[in-house]
Order: sequence, then structure tokens, then C-alpha cells
Amino acid sequence: MNIILLGPPGSGKGTQAKNITSEYGYVQLSTGDMLRKEYCSDSKIGLELKALMDGGNLVSDEIVIGIVEERIFQNGITTGFMLDGFPRNKAQAKKLDAMLAGKNEHINMVIRLLVDDEVVVRRIAGRRFHLKSGRSYHVEFNPPEISGKDDLTGDYLVQRADDNEEVVQSRLDIYREQTEPLVKYYEEKNVLVSIDGIGTPDEIFARIKTALEQ
Ligand code: AMP
Repeated sequence: MNIILLGPPGSGKGTQAKNITSEYGYVQLSTGDMLRKEYCSDSKIGLELKALMDGGNLVSDEIVIGIVEERIFQNGITTGFMLDGFPRNKAQAKKLDAMLAGKNEHINMVIRLLVDDEVVVRRIAGRRFHLKSGRSYHVEFNPPEISGKDDLTGDYLVQRADDNEEVVQSRLDIYREQTEPLVKYYEEKNVLVSIDGIGTPDEIFARIKTALEQ
């Protein structure tokens, strides 16, 4: 199975991607996580990424497609993959289709998480991350065992620079304009499944499992 998780920032894509990975073994490919690793380096490209991402803007298709291509095709993933945060516009979706067609593969399912903007803003404000692993927490809904620290490594957690209210609004606008048209794109390919993204992470995962096992 090759799966895409689609939904606005804060809809729970990262959390559910981790659940799906541990239950089914698909490899999670989060373009946001991959770009954040790059952005932590002090290279020229790292600084360019930082400026774009901290402001909530999309990184160029060329860079993102290059990263995805390298991860999916050069690392020879054979168990199926799950994309989280990619594609984010039609050009990326078309390029992905072309890359997959060249390998006799295709997207089997697009899981769309439905969440209201109000919920997204509340979820994002309390999010904390362990940058190296991409593990995420929420101060209210999913707190770490020790406040402010990652459960596995004890490293300090951080709040993403693009998780403040002003930037979140612009990320939501970009999502509506550029990413939401993919709903129709994948509906027409008969691979779209919409899931209610409101509830506890376990409740939402149970809905996803039902969709995956049908
Ligand atoms: P995310 O962790 O998915 O919320 O992504 C964080 C940031 O990384 C986004 O706001 C963009 O700046 C960048 N990014 C992640 N995925 C993509 C993509 N597919 N296309 C362009 N920019 C992306």
C-alpha cells in the first residue's frame, strides 16, 4: 500500500502516520520532518529553508520533489510508504504520479483528515516537538512524562517557529488555496477516503484502521 495523509496543519497527520507505521510497517515519509533536519544545519540551503518555513511559506517544488524522489526511489522502499505533508499542490501530485508510474506503482489510498480551523489553531498552540525524531506532544492532550522533555531521550522539547497564531493563519490560507484542490484530484482517481479528525488520537486511529482494512 502506498498512502497519502492529507489535511491542514494540526490535523494530526504526523501522529496518525506514526500509528500507521507501528501497526502496518509502512515507511513514513514526512517532507516537513526531512526539511526540518536540513534546516537545522547551518548550510546556505538550511538558512533559506529556515526563512521560508518559519514564515509558513511552502518550499519550492524542485527541492521537495528532489527529496521525495531520493527517499522513495533511491532507498528502494519495498513495504509501501506513507506520505505526510506531500504532495501539497497539484504540480507535486502530478510529479508524484509520474514518478510512481515509472516504477509500476501508484497511490492506493489518500486519507483525508477533516478538522475545523478552530480546533487546528488550539492543537497547534500546544504542540511541542522533539526535533531529531519528529516525535510530537501536546501540553494538554498528550503531555510528555516529564514536562518539556522527550520521553525517550530526555532532550528538551521545542515549539516550532511556525506554530504561532499569526503564521498558522497563513499556513491555513495556503492549505486552502494550494493543497485542498487535491481533494478533487484524488476523488476523481477514486482513492480518497475522508475521516473525521476530531476526537482522541486513538479514536481517530480506529477510524483509519477501519478504512485501511476494508
Ligand atoms: P509540516 O511539518 O508538514 O507542517 O511542514 C512544515 C513546513 O515545511 C511547511 O510549512 C513548508 O514550509 C515545508 N514543507 C513541507 N512539506 C512541503 C511540501 N510538500 N511542499 C512545500 N513545502 C513543504
